Amino acid sequence: MSFAKLSSFRRTLAFRLAYRHTLVFAFFALATFWIFYAARRSMLQYKTDAYLLAPARGCARSYTQGLPELQTEIETVTDAVGTHDILLRLLAADGQVVASSDDTAWKELGVDRNALARAQPAAPVFSTVSSGLQNPARVLYYATGEGHVVQAAVTLSDDLRLLKEFRLLFGMAIAVVTLLGGVMSWLATRHALAKVEAVTRTATVISSGALDSRVPVTPAADEIDRLASAFNQMLDRIQTLLRNLREISDNLAHELRSPITRIRGGAETTLTGSEDIADYKSMAASTVEECDQLLGLINTMLDISEAEAGVVKLKPAELNLAKTVGDVCDLFRPVAEDKAVVIREEVPEVCRVRGDREKIQRSLANLLDNAIKYSHPKGSVTVSLREEGTTALISVKDTGSGISPQDMPHIFERFYRSDTSRSEPGNGLGLSLARALVRAHGGDISVESAPGAGSTFVLALPKASA
Ligand code: ADP
Repeated sequence: MSFAKLSSFRRTLAFRLAYRHTLVFAFFALATFWIFYAARRSMLQYKTDAYLLAPARGCARSYTQGLPELQTEIETVTDAVGTHDILLRLLAADGQVVASSDDTAWKELGVDRNALARAQPAAPVFSTVSSGLQNPARVLYYATGEGHVVQAAVTLSDDLRLLKEFRLLFGMAIAVVTLLGGVMSWLATRHALAKVEAVTRTATVISSGALDSRVPVTPAADEIDRLASAFNQMLDRIQTLLRNLREISDNLAHELRSPITRIRGGAETTLTGSEDIADYKSMAASTVEECDQLLGLINTMLDISEAEAGVVKLKPAELNLAKTVGDVCDLFRPVAEDKAVVIREEVPEVCRVRGDREKIQRSLANLLDNAIKYSHPKGSVTVSLREEGTTALISVKDTGSGISPQDMPHIFERFYRSDTSRSEPGNGLGLSLARALVRAHGGDISVESAPGAGSTFVLALPKASA
């Protein structure tokens, strides 16, 4: 493995997690070992001390009957245990040896004056001596009560060998278990992160342009699957937004092309075919009209974008919605009469809402304009206003052509026009704008309709108190 590969491997999350797990694991394994080891060591020492006390007490007891008895006791014990393994001596208060077992193997073990002075009949003194001896030894100073002290010593070589084997065994076990734990942790982390890798791969594929790619979601439904689902949902949404954006820009280009072509055609015809100033005036007038329509279209687009982005500048004030509805109806009455459509008003005296009068009027005007536009001659449009809880509801009901179920989900989209409505003037922005403005007020527009059965649009606005 090259150095670059090694360092990029060391930066991987799988490696870093496995590394940290292994460290924590090793720490706890060592701590456990240390507790066991310390307990084992003190248990061994306790046993050794108990083992020393028995002959020391025996010697002290024998000494009360005289020195020969003590000598016999010492010989009995050393015969049974072995002179290499145990030393028994009677010391005077100044440390002089009064009686002793065979101390050939214990030449290097001196007398600890301090321990000698501290030893009391009820408080024996233990110490571990390792300096100068071939093997460390445990030494006991046991006061006889006659001003003498029994010194008893055993070699610790067996205990030390046992502890060494214990350390070696545990050390090897910890090393193997830590290594295995590290490998297992690395494999488990890698397995868990494999799904994250899949998300990364998909993101890379998408960034190269393949917006249709999706992250595979497994039936395990774990955290990563939920992440993958959320990621896929986000992609669906982005794709829809992009599609809408593309459609809007296509539609906009299309809407702009027709009037510009007409303006250009009119200008060209006048330039090449007429010297008459009246023709030039008429060409200028139609150019102004077309330009006004174009500006209207562009401004409406901007108004929708502002309202949808929540940056529209509203001038909210408390207003009587009943009066606003009446004003809009009056405004459209001449248009309705031209088409022999009757406008009926079912409006109470007062209905207070807080909002931007001009924007609310504009929204309602779009609904009423459509209702008249898509009504048959001799039809009727009923505009009613009522209150429901904290909401004021304006309903615009017509007896017109109605909307097909196929068109229904799209009528609020920008530039959407049903095939049947193409004979009527319009640009497909009216409903988008109406809804965006009402939503900017915290309200909404809903619709119920069936082909041939007319349509009812309901504009809901929060009341002033709400
Ligand atoms: P436009 O009226 O300029 O086409 P709108 O955004 O106002 O654009 O309406 C979108 C489409 O919704 C219309 O083209 C028409 O198909 C349908 N529509 C809206 N209002 C009505 C209505 N009252 N009756 C029937 N169809 C309607």
